[in-house]
Amino acid sequence: MGEFELIRRYFAAASCARAGEGVALGIGDDCALLALPPGEQLAVSTDTLVAGVHFPEACESFLLAQRALGVAVSDLAAMGATPIGFTLALTIPSADPAWLQGLAAGLDRMAQACGVRLIGGDTSRGPLCLTLTVFGRIPAGQALTRSGARAGELLCVGGYPGEAAGALPLVLGQRQAAAEIAEPLLARYWAPQPQLDLGQALRGKATAALDVSDGLLADCGHIAKASGVALLVEQARLPLSPALVALVGETMARDCALSGGDDYLLAFTLPAEHLADLQAQGWPIHVIGRVEAGQGVQLLDKQGRPVTPPVRGYEHFRSDGD
Ligand code: ADP
Ligand code: MG
Repeated sequence: MGEFELIRRYFAAASCARAGEGVALGIGDDCALLALPPGEQLAVSTDTLVAGVHFPEACESFLLAQRALGVAVSDLAAMGATPIGFTLALTIPSADPAWLQGLAAGLDRMAQACGVRLIGGDTSRGPLCLTLTVFGRIPAGQALTRSGARAGELLCVGGYPGEAAGALPLVLGQRQAAAEIAEPLLARYWAPQPQLDLGQALRGKATAALDVSDGLLADCGHIAKASGVALLVEQARLPLSPALVALVGETMARDCALSGGDDYLLAFTLPAEHLADLQAQGWPIHVIGRVEAGQGVQLLDKQGRPVTPPVRGYEHFRSDGD
């Protein structure tokens, strides 16, 4: 099977590659063409996943594709964008039909859940690596950036952080657990659901937002820096996932919630006047702290005293002596 047959069979023919809203021209030409409604801005983000670094080398292609696309689309959720399309730059060591079939099926599954279409890509031979670029649209001026947090606002998170990090020993086969505990945690890791609806609901309300990929404390640091404020995280208010507590106990669950990456939940700052309305609409919003004048992220214990957090979030190149 040659490159063009491969592209045709597994990608151009995938159901997520069908033409649709916002995509004037999809796979097959030199470029795809996107149609943006008047008054909207294009949101663009790229993510690369390298075998052995971002996912276990031997993982199923279905799960890999589903996760890769979920992770990429999560960046659109974090800006409050509505997804339009994505490209896939794929490097594979060989063209294994069953593996490619699984990959296309995983993309289809997540693409359908997110309402996003495959609009193009590139295919080469080499060590396994995927790069996904996602495109979305946002009414001009309404994107949720990282830089608008102000003293006096609440710091919030859109669910239970830490579940994906807690699932890692299950993912790597280092641990086993009963299905009712393992399944929701594994799903959080392998099928992260971008909080697109929440992101859109936060337009015009949240003052800063991001999706937690490297750990709650580490990522809150990005909001603190971009906004020029201090973020205080109150340990007592941290929501702990029941499945995670059942698997690893409360202390470890708290460490996962503070420092574990891979959750792709939204963390955001919110003027207090918007909280009741959003919670009444059913959004899974937990207040975990507040914004103050100053800089950096500070963890507070149950008495409100500063404590040293557990391990910091993951950073590539951190051991390179920089
Ligand atoms: P070019 O030589 O112009 O870069 P290619 O031969 O790489 O074009 O690709 C042909 C068409 O197939 C293009 O429209 C491209 O976007 C699409 N394509 C290539 N690889 C993929 C892929 N992995 N997934 C989706 N579309 C792809
Ligand atoms: Mg090409």
